[in-house]
Amino acid sequence: MLNVIIFGAPGSGKGTQSEKLIEEYGLDHISTGEVLREEIKNNTELGKIAAQYIEKGQLIPDDLIIDILSTILDTKGNSKGVIFDGFPRTISQAHALKKMLNERNEQINAVIALEVEDAELIGRLLNRGKVSGRSDDNLETIQKRLQVYHSQTAPLIEYYKEENLYNAIEGSGSIDEIFARIKAVIKNL
Ligand code: ADP
Repeated sequence: MLNVIIFGAPGSGKGTQSEKLIEEYGLDHISTGEVLREEIKNNTELGKIAAQYIEKGQLIPDDLIIDILSTILDTKGNSKGVIFDGFPRTISQAHALKKMLNERNEQINAVIALEVEDAELIGRLLNRGKVSGRSDDNLETIQKRLQVYHSQTAPLIEYYKEENLYNAIEGSGSIDEIFARIKAVIKNL
């Protein structure tokens, strides 16, 4: 299996590049953000809890999101591989993912990290907010999300460098240019 983490700050293009990866390599895709937004739309108990965090730009508690991820992973048994999009977002989630995959005789093959400057991220997210209808795509929440990214998620960069899995991708440019950079990394795995 080809299991990859698509990593980056909010607005770095993880969802967009995931779509290209799905098309090119026939991978399955797990986006924790999409899963949570679906729960919110359906007004489930989980959705009600998640909404409280998401609207403030905070992360959902680790134990909760780890449980969700593990349940979804169990439905992906026969896949060619999985793209993890938006997970892990903390060191503790990264440890949990490693353990979960080990238990299934699987592993992460690469972390594809989309690197984009904060100023560009803010511009992209504000633009997206005009059409996405997402409750977290407004300036105040975007700034909070970036703060959370830098304090809680960015430590994963060192973690995955030490695991020899980290691949930095210049995340500015056209969608196809960026995807070509990603393909070059995957070709070498
Ligand atoms: P973004 O564009 O900010 O990367 P996502 O769609 O991946 O957006 O996630 C939206 C929100 O869902 C996050 O700001 C966070 O509140 C919550 N969320 C998604 N994935 C996780 C996770 N792995 N751990 C905790 N919270 C998460």
